[in-house]
Amino acid sequence: MNAQLINNSRVGDLPFDEIKEGEITQFTGNKKDFINDDEIQSLIKKSWNADTQEVRDIIQKSLSIKRLEPEETAALLNVKDNNLWEEMFYAAGEIKKRVYDNRIVTFAPLYLSNLCTNSCVYCSFRKENAQEKRRRLTGYEIRKETEAILSVGHKRIIVVYGDHPLSNIDYIADTIKTIYDTKAGTSRIRRINVNSAPMSVDDLKILKQTGIGTYQVFQETYHHRTYREVHPSGKKSNYQWRLYALHRAMEAGIDDVAIGALFGLYDWKFEVMGLLYHAIELERNFGVGPHTISFPRVKSAANTPLGENPAYNDKRVSDEDFKKLVAVIRLSVPYTGMILTAREPARLRKEALSLGITQMDASTRIGIGSYSENYNKQEMKRQQFLIGDTRSLEELIGELAGAGYITSFCTAGYRCGRTGKCIMDMLSGGKERWFCKINAVLTYREWLDDFAGNETKMLGEKVIKKEISEIKESVPALYPKFIEYFERIKNGERDLFI
Ligand code: SAM
Ligand code: SF4
Repeated sequence: MNAQLINNSRVGDLPFDEIKEGEITQFTGNKKDFINDDEIQSLIKKSWNADTQEVRDIIQKSLSIKRLEPEETAALLNVKDNNLWEEMFYAAGEIKKRVYDNRIVTFAPLYLSNLCTNSCVYCSFRKENAQEKRRRLTGYEIRKETEAILSVGHKRIIVVYGDHPLSNIDYIADTIKTIYDTKAGTSRIRRINVNSAPMSVDDLKILKQTGIGTYQVFQETYHHRTYREVHPSGKKSNYQWRLYALHRAMEAGIDDVAIGALFGLYDWKFEVMGLLYHAIELERNFGVGPHTISFPRVKSAANTPLGENPAYNDKRVSDEDFKKLVAVIRLSVPYTGMILTAREPARLRKEALSLGITQMDASTRIGIGSYSENYNKQEMKRQQFLIGDTRSLEELIGELAGAGYITSFCTAGYRCGRTGKCIMDMLSGGKERWFCKINAVLTYREWLDDFAGNETKMLGEKVIKKEISEIKESVPALYPKFIEYFERIKNGERDLFI
């Protein structure tokens, strides 16, 4: 079936979702928002010279799974001693183990539409890019994409949309329903997370009804002036509409929300502080912080002003600084999930893994229709930006198994109502760990039996053996139920969880 191309600029009479000022001022009270650029800059300056003991005390606080205060994070960001950084790297890994154990949750992004009315200077979907072939997937195409994703064993996806009247809440809700309804044999997608433009509370209530997992909006940059520069026009130029997107989601009843910053637009230390302030603000208002934090770096994107603009050269984040920012985020918000995407090359993903990562995508394609249609992996014209890790899900699982990690396809949390504050309390208290471990093993068993080649299976069996003995020893009360489910899965049943 031929893809239907759409003229991106012909928005014509289509109803465009307006920004509802009242849904900003209800949180700001007509005052400034919670990101105070001067305060952040001065905290970073002031903590220039924290002494070793002070830094070690902060690390200890993180290790007791307590979220840091801004001045503490600022002190960590300014550490100059390499040995202290090594201590922070080690502690970041320890925190991850205490809260999330040796699990890595995996997922695939599914891009549904590249129509967009915004002008973000870093993104190939920007409206000025006349080279981009614009389309949104039809129901038939969505089923094909979903089947292709299911065929490698994924159970969790994140759907991604441009910001356009043709990909409004009605389209988003329809596409989510189509994906949940698609089956490939006995497989189906069990959790859909969403990355879309900020919405109004009414639209978010409709989104909630579709049965999503997490709602994700990246602020891109928390620095007000830079935000204006990189979002010169369109709805996205409104900083506060975006900053309060997740407040509105919470208000609409979506309690798993995800924040992120696009590193490389402004000073990386400032952005880490911005993410922390955002987490604190969500905690204060709703009693629960972000379900996950993302920290993508800007990648080359065809026909974008940023790519050619030397003004951004000194903002680019080196691999060394990238590892530092990952560790500081882990130490600052110990309870949160951390997503390391395929934007980064395989080598760096491997290195950063031990610094606190909890989720990774794999078999990733970010063009519209690129899972099911003939597609050259690195074809720039069809994707939003150039990805760094093009390995298959099986390759990633094999690598993780070799390093002692179990890949989890668990989607039990939100289906059992363990979301929002409930899951965050359980994670911080170390309780959720065992439910997650059990469900990770059950879903890993499914994947190994349904999708693994011989070599990966061999590696995976070793991981499973170790996990089973840990469950038996540490949670004997849950063991009988677990082993019953495990045997039933071995005998062909699917989607059993605790
Ligand atoms: N259009 C929606 C929006 O802007 O909110 C959905 C998001 S966009 C399709 C997904 C995310 O990709 C953006 O929030 C941005 O952080 C990231 N992104 C855009 N261009 C990028 C680039 N050149 N390199 C890396 N990430 C990029
Ligand atoms: Fe459009 Fe989102 Fe890309 Fe900006 S980042 S141009 S809003 S798709």
